[in-house]
Amino acid sequence: MELTAQKQNLVKACRKLAERGFVAATDGNVSLRLDDGTILVTPSGRSKADIDEDELIVVGLDGRVVGGIGRPSTEFGMHTLIYRKRPDVRAIVHAHPVHATAFAAARLALDKLIFPEVIVTLGRIPLADYSTPSTAEVAAAIEPLVVDFDAILLANHGVVTCGPDLDDAYNKMEKVEHTAAVNFIAMQLGGAKELTVDEVQRLASVSERSYGKKVDLNKIYR
Ligand code: 13P
Ligand code: ZN
Repeated sequence: MELTAQKQNLVKACRKLAERGFVAATDGNVSLRLDDGTILVTPSGRSKADIDEDELIVVGLDGRVVGGIGRPSTEFGMHTLIYRKRPDVRAIVHAHPVHATAFAAARLALDKLIFPEVIVTLGRIPLADYSTPSTAEVAAAIEPLVVDFDAILLANHGVVTCGPDLDDAYNKMEKVEHTAAVNFIAMQLGGAKELTVDEVQRLASVSERSYGKKVDLNKIYR
């Protein structure tokens, strides 16, 4: 895909994050891996509602700015860690959506097996140890989890999701927030009931046919 089209996609994702209230003020950052291996990323400290294509920055995995003006996101280290560990990942979304961030603030993982479609797309949603935002601590905190999970809660901070393209990474963010919101309401009703091992196994046996995705039981029950 041409760089112009990639930039348009990235700006579209930023606007959606802002419209859905997944970010406040200048929160959040988005990036995608370009064909030459460099990363297109949002600038630091800008509202995702206002970002334009010409503000996006191209950065090498070594952190060297190779295109654009301004300062890349302060969470670029978290993005590069994921790109390095996951050759399959081509896009990353970091945001602070209200319900999922509330779970992260309470230091509660969203790791109960409640929604079949979430199990198929994300497995469990773990909580990374606390790390100071915008520092190298963030990459260190998520490192043990990035190989196995596409969505991670960042304690007292927010959420990071990744995928093979930007639509996928963005949709995972929506899924995490929706899961958190429903879970929160279910907690007022006495708590959501987890699927049994048998129910998860039945889901796994049809997931490829029904959802086009295999459930990795080893990761779910690791
Ligand atoms: P940046 O504006 O530097 O991308 O930081 C936003 C953020 O969410 C920090 O965690
Ligand atoms: Zn953040």
